[in-house]
Amino acid sequence: MSARIINGKEISDTIRREIREEVERLSGRGIRPGLVVILVGEDPASQVYVRNKAKACEDLGYHSEVVRLPADTTQDELLHLIAKYNEDPKINGILVQLPLPKHIAEKPVIDAISVDKDVDGFHPISVGNLMIGDDSLLPCTPAGVIELLKRTGNSPAGKHAVVVGRSNIVGKPVSMLLLRENATVTVCHSRTPDLPAVARQADILIVAVGVPKLVKRDWVKPGAVVIDVGINRLEDGKLAGDVDYEDVLETAGWITPVPGGVGPMTITMLMANTLKSCKRANGID
Ligand code: NAD
Repeated sequence: MSARIINGKEISDTIRREIREEVERLSGRGIRPGLVVILVGEDPASQVYVRNKAKACEDLGYHSEVVRLPADTTQDELLHLIAKYNEDPKINGILVQLPLPKHIAEKPVIDAISVDKDVDGFHPISVGNLMIGDDSLLPCTPAGVIELLKRTGNSPAGKHAVVVGRSNIVGKPVSMLLLRENATVTVCHSRTPDLPAVARQADILIVAVGVPKLVKRDWVKPGAVVIDVGINRLEDGKLAGDVDYEDVLETAGWITPVPGGVGPMTITMLMANTLKSCKRANGID
């Protein structure tokens, strides 16, 4: 039997409707979530991401600012701007679009963002809170993966989840979240021997590697839930995930397509984080 498709677009739309309702309730009290996105330089992919984030803010009725800085902006100038937004009460979320130009170091920039406004969830204190299970703003793509699982009735509790990839933005945080959700978690990476055999043990297989169509049907236990985080541009211009979707479709129980799976969830979770940060700033639980 063919796998059931996990429709990230539909789930994302549902969450955005929930967010919009809350934003309307808050506006009755004169409260409006605010997000600033800072882009340094002219990376074409980043330009698209920034535009999409601004559009999402507009659709949801957020206060939105986009700051486009020239590629030769200094690190100090960027740090000053972040300090300004840390103090700005209209702003609940500060997002610095990565990657930054080579002359600016990522770490001091991420560290400079107030933890309360760290809607990307990349600040070391946010990462630490995630690790020890304290309340924090969660990194968007991993949080989106957990929403996809829960909202399709695939609770990770008691399941064996295998995560392929150990990056700081996807693999590691999604592993921590799965653990928090009571899954038994195995984390694999480029030095894991016999990856297909490990992956085949998974009830839930999460793949975040960046190698197009790496995962074939012999990696997948029949009936497993397969979440493909990968977004890869092929030579013909089409997008492909890290999972060979066509090959795996008959074996998996559930699968996310690329595009239209994890992708749409990322910005939605950014919006959810900004709302959460706004409610916290106003003393609302
Ligand atoms: P990364 O390059 O930072 O990390 C890749 C990880 O995969 C590393 O831990 C590495 O050890 C592992 N790896 C590399 N080759 C491997 C192999 N052959 N076998 C097993 N493991 C291997 O990448 P990332 O930032 O985690 O992104 C991974 C993918 O997810 C990319 O395609 C990226 O575009 C995509 N992504 C999508 C979203 C989204 O919104 N859907 C967000 C972030 C990343």
